[in-house]
Amino acid sequence: MGARTGAEFLKGLKSPRSIWLGREKVTDVTEHPALAGAAHALAEVFDLQHREAATCLMPDPETGEPINVSHMIPRSRADLMRRHACLEKIAEFSVGLMGRTPDYMNVTYAGFAGRDDEWGAFGNEGGATNLVAYQKFLRRNDISLTHTIVQPTVDKALGDVPAAGNDVALHKVADTEHGIVVRGARILATLAPFADEIAVYPAAQLPPGADAYALSFCIPMSTPGLKFICRDSVSVAGNRHDHPLSSRFDEQDAFVIFDNVEVPRNRVFIDCNINVYNNVMRTGWYPNITQQTMIRAQTKLEFAWGVALRMAEAINSLQPPSLQQMGEIRTYADLTRAAIAAAEHEAHDYGNGCWFLDKPPITALKAILPVWMPRVGEIIRLLGSHNLLAAPTKAQMDDKELGPLIERYLRGAGDTNAAKRARIFRLAWDFAGSALASRNEQYERFYLGSIQRNYQWVQTLADRKRADRLVDRFLSEGTGP
Ligand SMILES: Cc1cc2nc3c(=O)[nH]c(=O)nc-3n(C[C@H](O)[C@H](O)[C@H](O)COP(=O)(O)OP(=O)(O)OC[C@H]3O[C@@H](n4cnc5c(N)ncnc54)[C@H](O)[C@@H]3O)c2cc1C
Repeated sequence: MGARTGAEFLKGLKSPRSIWLGREKVTDVTEHPALAGAAHALAEVFDLQHREAATCLMPDPETGEPINVSHMIPRSRADLMRRHACLEKIAEFSVGLMGRTPDYMNVTYAGFAGRDDEWGAFGNEGGATNLVAYQKFLRRNDISLTHTIVQPTVDKALGDVPAAGNDVALHKVADTEHGIVVRGARILATLAPFADEIAVYPAAQLPPGADAYALSFCIPMSTPGLKFICRDSVSVAGNRHDHPLSSRFDEQDAFVIFDNVEVPRNRVFIDCNINVYNNVMRTGWYPNITQQTMIRAQTKLEFAWGVALRMAEAINSLQPPSLQQMGEIRTYADLTRAAIAAAEHEAHDYGNGCWFLDKPPITALKAILPVWMPRVGEIIRLLGSHNLLAAPTKAQMDDKELGPLIERYLRGAGDTNAAKRARIFRLAWDFAGSALASRNEQYERFYLGSIQRNYQWVQTLADRKRADRLVDRFLSEGTGP
């Protein structure tokens, strides 16, 4: 089949699935008022790959079918740069607001399949074979994949991961003729209503004895027993003029319940093998996936800077302190771009011929972006002040009675008429103040782990040799005669 069109993607979403939103069980996600906007936006992402085929498509290495470049297993720096261009195109579509467009999981599974040596360790050869076959299926059928990798929080004092006997976290309960049965819950499947399949793979390390929780597999969203509880929608059905972002970019997040779900044997990648589970994420996963996440973040930061500029121009506030505030956003955007470039420049073979980004720059970015992103939202709100809340709708501007008054009293500086001013400030509010903005801030704070955990990673991975040398000089001085 190869790369799908938007229409083919939407057709796939009509398969049965147990999506719960608000007070109802959704029958068709492509038509539900709270979901249709994002479903159709994602369809545009599928169409985009055909429109931008030179950047976004490549032949499948075995069949020659056109597949998205995000499925590529990178084998060199040149491969990574090619993937960069594709990921940037996709990120630009939602100006970085949709974090989990399907390229996120395409990149993840390309990385996993490339490291089949790690997945096949500790006697898990069968699981690794299944995984490599699955990645071929994923890329050749252009599957939209959601994922859930984190155990639900029940009692923080008990730690992050399940101890034996924990019946909340996802675990295996039985073997069957054709596979395994799993039961329990996981958080938080972003993109769930818009996915064809769901992936389960490792995150936090499991303690000894928690073998039943050491699972990895992929199954269709229609699998009996799978249930998805969506958070409240932040989508605003309506015209793109009034809600340019929240009318289409709410990618949704869902709590997942596996209510005695049978997973076919050929879809199981880890079956209670705690050694594999605790090792496969340690080396190449995040130096691989962060190319997608950081290009998305950089795109979003540059968009934010663009919005800030337009706001300042609309009311002629291109002077201090607005200048400093805009400069702060641009600083974050430039530092992010520089860190990605450094990590790509120093990219290397992580094993099995797979090339991923260099760790130190992206480890630092992963830690600091959850601080920068909320700050950028804050700056947009500071720059915009009351103007963000004095931006009429299209219907108000089109109204015979109101329109002329709005034109007179709500115009901006210079040649900024009321319509232009309203569009700029509505866009800025949708980015930094709307319900979508609030959800997106939560996403940026947590989607790659909390700030505290990320700083711990920086500290744990950092090379201390040079720091020791610099400090030792002073500790040893003056101790001699
Ligand atoms: C919008 C959104 C979308 C997401 N999408 C997905 C998805 O698609 N797939 C998926 O699998 N997951 C997803 N997640 C989940 C995400 O991976 C987790 O939120 C993330 O790993 C952080 O884990 P946590 O929420 O348990 O928070 P924690 O890491 O537990 O942090 C929460 C708070 O706990 C405290 N804390 C931090 N470290 C510790 C510690 N060591 N001990 C005690 N307390 C601590 C801090 O106050 C911290 O702010 C999503 C999350 C959000 C918010």
